[in-house]
Amino acid sequence: MQTHEIRKRFLDHFIRAGHTEVPSASLILDDPNLLFVNAGMVPFKPFFLGDQTPPYTRATSVQKCVRTLDIEEVGITTRHNTFFQMAGNFSFGDYFKREAIRFAWELLTNSVEDGGYGIDPTRLWPTVYLDDDEAESIWRDEIGVPSERIQRRGMADNYWSMGVPGPCGPCSEIFYDRGPEYGVEGGPEADEDRYIEIWNLVFMQNERGEGTSKDDYEILGPLPKKNIDTGMGIERVACLLQGVDNVYETDLLKPIIDLASRLTGREYGAGKHEDDVRFRVVADHARTAAMLIGDGVVPANDGRGYVLRRLLRRIVRSMRLLGSGTTGGGEATMERIIAEVIDVMSPSYPELEQQRAHILSVAVAEETTFARTLAAGSKLFSEAADATKRAGSTSISGSDAFTLHDTYGFPIDLTLEMAAEAGLEVDREGFSELMGEQRRRAKADASARKSSHADQSVYREFLDRGPTEFTGFDELVSEARV
Ligand code: ATP
Ligand code: MG
Ligand code: MG
Ligand code: MG
Repeated sequence: MQTHEIRKRFLDHFIRAGHTEVPSASLILDDPNLLFVNAGMVPFKPFFLGDQTPPYTRATSVQKCVRTLDIEEVGITTRHNTFFQMAGNFSFGDYFKREAIRFAWELLTNSVEDGGYGIDPTRLWPTVYLDDDEAESIWRDEIGVPSERIQRRGMADNYWSMGVPGPCGPCSEIFYDRGPEYGVEGGPEADEDRYIEIWNLVFMQNERGEGTSKDDYEILGPLPKKNIDTGMGIERVACLLQGVDNVYETDLLKPIIDLASRLTGREYGAGKHEDDVRFRVVADHARTAAMLIGDGVVPANDGRGYVLRRLLRRIVRSMRLLGSGTTGGGEATMERIIAEVIDVMSPSYPELEQQRAHILSVAVAEETTFARTLAAGSKLFSEAADATKRAGSTSISGSDAFTLHDTYGFPIDLTLEMAAEAGLEVDREGFSELMGEQRRRAKADASARKSSHADQSVYREFLDRGPTEFTGFDELVSEARV
């Protein structure tokens, strides 16, 4: 089943159940705490917080989401995109757990003829929060999932709040068992690669008080009006329904991988893991970049524009490492890659087509600038390589590698690859030391402006994973010196 069809079936299912379809909001909302919209509920926040009264009690949407926090996972895990589409259904003081669980179950397991996704119910594993007997009993006694396939998980995985005083509550997540070839038995508690998370149902039933971290806040008591917020990952469902290995091989991303393969003359899936990761990075980042430019972001050295800049440069870098002119001027491939993204995405996002010329020109301009950077860096690289050889050494110094990175924005893996081509190594330890020093400086900088740049995904991630430190944006900041 194609992605566009998966979206449509989701919306139709919930419209039939009395929900109002709400179009996706822009990725950029006027919220000082939010870099990008990163969940379907974000545009509905004022309703959940009680600041505004919703014009409906049931809504459904497929929201564009960007999670910068997941950037390092891209291409490596099977399931993380920087841009993805989160389908959701929302109840504002209307239905609650029983209906939310039933709606989700029916869409997933109803036959294709009946408008569902036709997923084999024996593959589905729901989780519930530790003390949520109510949810467990609905899954077991009303839906009929055997109790051995229902797992209970703690705060870190199955309790949600927005990170601020306001609604909070237990979640129930739905995982799909991809089978023994993908990992060990034992449900999502044992292996989240084999059991892939597809849908998160949030039951907003309580009110939380002040407190900064996930485990450190008071639950003040039940909410007068209970709400439902759910999020289903369209790309993940596409991956399962299309029987492919990972989200990057689904119908909207694979054509970009195929194009990158034609442009570089290198094969995807030929057994070279590093290449495959690069292909997946190109496909993922190209799509995110096109969506961000479409929503008004332009490359810059900080904030949202820096995220875009980094995505575009990673595409250029990855394409070169895949063989598109590593040492010379490199071939310009951005235009064709972004054009392909627009072609595949515009049936769901017609605004991309309307803005085709603008999106292409922004992306290509960044490619050109970065190509110049690379050209300047290549000159310094050759000088450093020559000097290294003249000195009878086989290793480019850490400080040269650092200058290449810091002054010319030359990624270390490019330096390494070019060094290898020249029969040289790189003093990686020296390089890492200098990078560490710089990162500490950048961190000090970043913490000063953290309040204005905090990514909202911090909250979900905190809540889903426990009190881990958010380093994604700091890393971005530290690499911002180009
Ligand atoms: P994971 O644990 O796999 O990182 P999550 O718990 O962070 O996922 P939620 O915040 O619960 O995800 O988001 C709701 C749904 O959105 C998930 O169940 C998943 O289907 C989808 N989703 C989340 N992050 C991504 C991503 N980076 N790429 C694609 N889909 C995603
Ligand atoms: Mg989740
Ligand atoms: Mg996550
Ligand atoms: Mg999760």
